[in-house]
Amino acid sequence: MCGLCLPHCPTYTVSQQEGESPRGRISLVKAFLEDQLDPSPALGQHLQSCTTCLKCQQVCPAKVDFEAIIDAGRSAYRQHLPLFPRLLQTLLIHSLGSRLGQMMIKAGLPLARRLNRSTTSPLGQLARLAASIPKRNNNTPIKAASRLSGQSVLLFQGCSGQVMDQNALDSAKQLIRAIGFEPLLSASSDCCSALAQHAGLSDYARKQQLQLRQKWAKLPCCDVISIASGCGNQLDQLDTAGLKHWDIHQWLLAEDAFNKLKPRSLNKKVLLHVPCSLHANPAAVAAMHQLLAKIPQLEVHEFNDNLHCCGAGGVQLITPEASNYALAQRKAQTIAAAEVDLVLSANVGCSSQLRMALDRRVQKIDIIHPIELLARQLS
Ligand code: SF4
Ligand code: SF4
Repeated sequence: MCGLCLPHCPTYTVSQQEGESPRGRISLVKAFLEDQLDPSPALGQHLQSCTTCLKCQQVCPAKVDFEAIIDAGRSAYRQHLPLFPRLLQTLLIHSLGSRLGQMMIKAGLPLARRLNRSTTSPLGQLARLAASIPKRNNNTPIKAASRLSGQSVLLFQGCSGQVMDQNALDSAKQLIRAIGFEPLLSASSDCCSALAQHAGLSDYARKQQLQLRQKWAKLPCCDVISIASGCGNQLDQLDTAGLKHWDIHQWLLAEDAFNKLKPRSLNKKVLLHVPCSLHANPAAVAAMHQLLAKIPQLEVHEFNDNLHCCGAGGVQLITPEASNYALAQRKAQTIAAAEVDLVLSANVGCSSQLRMALDRRVQKIDIIHPIELLARQLS
């Protein structure tokens, strides 16, 4: 109850309300689980608006496991959510977790893009989200290494990555082949379970985790590489059946063959967004900087408010609360003021959120994954 986490909480900084703070949310979950509080819409809003950025957990001197508390609160409250957002969350999360569902989402994107984007309704958010998904590039691929090492690595594609970040996945595959490895691809239905867990679908999240463990226990190899920091953060917390998980920036840097590649120079200014899910992994952030430093003439700036969440976490991308828009707008203002050529982000959710925020300001700046830029300069 010390309150030291309050100034670090993005939703508290925009609202200044105790119920929008970590301490407030902990008290609300406690009272609700002890039957001292009714499942009111206000309670639901305070639980849903948390972006699960876990800044509170990182600064808490008592090491309170906030993630477990908010997940438990959301899981218990879930049946009281209004019907439409609840169905929309369930439908999207289950669809993302299956090959057929992903195909249906991809087929439905053109229609979703035509919905009215200017409303704050769940359908308006769906339209903005669909419009934020970039088209697949046809860039010249990087040449694969002439001599293969004979080793494989498992590239964790992630459920939303396959729908929303195909260009970053293509770049990762090319980079892995360029240094002589063969990327094995995780199955379409393989999901790290973070989305389901943070939406309060705890049974479904556990099922996804069990499936992943059972599959990976049968693999003869190898290292697992993730490209989205949100998935990576979740995989770090799971039992990966003896496979070693790597963030892609760290894995590439650790390979001699990669360090021999020479990217072309690029005389541009880029703004690097460090997702909240990477704040707990400073080595990965350092690796990202080291990789970008390999591109001659590239000027890399970090967001001056990198410590503040963009608002995409939790279930905010699907069913946002009001604070989400304020957080996204704050990032859009930072991007506009920085006057950069390109924005980089290593998390698919954050990239989508930043694209949506810029779209509202009718401003077009490419937002791509750092490895996408690296692949471009090596192609
Ligand atoms: S996880 Fe982030 S948004 Fe949620 S209470 Fe903690 S600091 Fe605030
Ligand atoms: S979560 Fe930690 S930092 Fe925040 S009020 Fe409780 S004890 Fe203090």
